Amino acid sequence: MHPISRAALRPYICASCRYGIGASRRRFGTKPDQTPDIYDVVCVGGGPAGLGLLAALRASPITSKLKVALVESQDLNKAQAWNMPSDQFSNRVSSLTPSSASFLRKIGAWEHLDTNRVQEYQEMQVWDGETGSRISFDWSMETPPFEDMRTVATMTENLNLVRALLGRIAASGDQGLTLFSNTTVASIENGSDLQASGPDLSAWPVLSVKPTGPGSETKGISRIAARLLVGADGINSPVRSFADIPTQGWDYNRHGIVATLALADLDTPPFPANLRTAYQRFLPALGGPIALLPLPNNHATLVWSTTPENAAYLKSLSPSAFLAMVNAAFRLSMTDLKYMMGIERSEQTSHEDELAWHVQHTSLPSQTPPLATAVQQGTVASFPLRFRHAAQYISPRVALVGDAAHVIHPLAGQGLNLGLADVAALSRTIEYAVSHGMDIGDLLTLERYSSERYLPNAKIGGACDLLHKMYTIPGQGPITWARSLGLDVIDKLPFVKSFLMKNAEGH
Ligand SMILES: Cc1cc2nc3c(=O)[nH]c(=O)nc-3n(C[C@H](O)[C@H](O)[C@H](O)COP(=O)(O)OP(=O)(O)OC[C@H]3O[C@@H](n4cnc5c(N)ncnc54)[C@H](O)[C@@H]3O)c2cc1C
Repeated sequence: MHPISRAALRPYICASCRYGIGASRRRFGTKPDQTPDIYDVVCVGGGPAGLGLLAALRASPITSKLKVALVESQDLNKAQAWNMPSDQFSNRVSSLTPSSASFLRKIGAWEHLDTNRVQEYQEMQVWDGETGSRISFDWSMETPPFEDMRTVATMTENLNLVRALLGRIAASGDQGLTLFSNTTVASIENGSDLQASGPDLSAWPVLSVKPTGPGSETKGISRIAARLLVGADGINSPVRSFADIPTQGWDYNRHGIVATLALADLDTPPFPANLRTAYQRFLPALGGPIALLPLPNNHATLVWSTTPENAAYLKSLSPSAFLAMVNAAFRLSMTDLKYMMGIERSEQTSHEDELAWHVQHTSLPSQTPPLATAVQQGTVASFPLRFRHAAQYISPRVALVGDAAHVIHPLAGQGLNLGLADVAALSRTIEYAVSHGMDIGDLLTLERYSSERYLPNAKIGGACDLLHKMYTIPGQGPITWARSLGLDVIDKLPFVKSFLMKNAEGH
């Protein structure tokens, strides 16, 4: 049971008290008394979650007539015009589960994706670098004969997805739709019931939004009121602050290194020919797992979770030394890796020489990924890894989705998928309310959304957190033994494995 926040009590403040509060309320903008424009839904944040919600609302015949606005501080025109040569890939890539893909198909966004840039995979190899225990998930074996191979997930650049969602929204026409691009939220406050005309907005969020792009100095602040305000505004959500919803969580003291890599041709081509594999090796002594996930044209995206010190070291390396470290991380022992992680530039030996030497003296794991042969210029970057969970997802006239509601460890590639599942649920909730004549901002209406999403998100975030903690304990102690036993047992129990596979698919 979550404590009721102050924001949840807003509608219960009596009218005379409200006048008192109104008098002392903070005000921003050039025309504080200007009557705000009224929208049914205002979404703050034009990342995958916010755009996904808008696209879903525009796609449904029940909600397409709602008056909606989206506020995004980045330039959405730039996102819409995003382009890259076919042999280069952005470094922010997400694995979309079949559930996410089917939601995107349902709302008509999938057909706006550049599908030449996405890559499905059907098999996963996951192993413990300390003990060698392994689990493999092969969806191709689960597929009935004569059917298309079932996929674990589809690797998609976030920018390709964002562009597709913008394309879908544009295709819905501009009636009832306002996109505040290059615009930031300057403040959010409750409105007032002192207006000469129009509804009593005293329990409605009213946003002051301020253009930030070129020429913005000449543009004024706009005020917009929301029957329902959706926070899709990421980890530092201003909407969550307005609603006074606290979060629980911690920083992992780990960074996720990302990069786009070119791979060598495989010695033995995969069978069936279009079978693609994702690889993840847990490296407890280095602080987290390294994952190599397939992209088209024999490319792959790297996500390596490690300590901030290791991340800084890896980012300081030359491209060839960086590649040697990546290839070593999938092949060498923890001792050899720790040694290589400390080689100084001034030393006689190079990372490349060390890898070549150690590989000759190491019995390689049975399933290693193809060698990484090149790193795409400018793609090595790192992100701090954090866990956050909002104490609640809703308050009167407010709902949180995506990273504004929860941020999880990326080791299972689920963050964005959870965000898309949130927006699918919230759009269904809004549809239900509209078709039953309910107020879409009412707490009772929003309960439906919250009860559908809170527990599944907590479960998956908690499981990723547990996995992270289990796999950062180095050495050969009881936890190392237990986690390896766990992997071995799961690998040999088809029913348990099938259950895990279904969860990973997003069912
Ligand atoms: C290394 C790494 C790898 C990952 N890999 C995967 C993966 O494989 N699969 C997966 O599902 N997830 C993955 N994730 C997680 C995924 O990237 C995030 O969960 C997802 O991008 C969050 O989307 P969002 O739309 O909720 O938030 P965001 O993408 O953070 O969007 C929030 C938006 O709000 C805007 N905004 C914020 N404040 C304001 C304001 N005041 N005014 C106006 N606009 C504002 C921002 O500009 C931004 O565009 C990974 C994360 C990391 C760090």
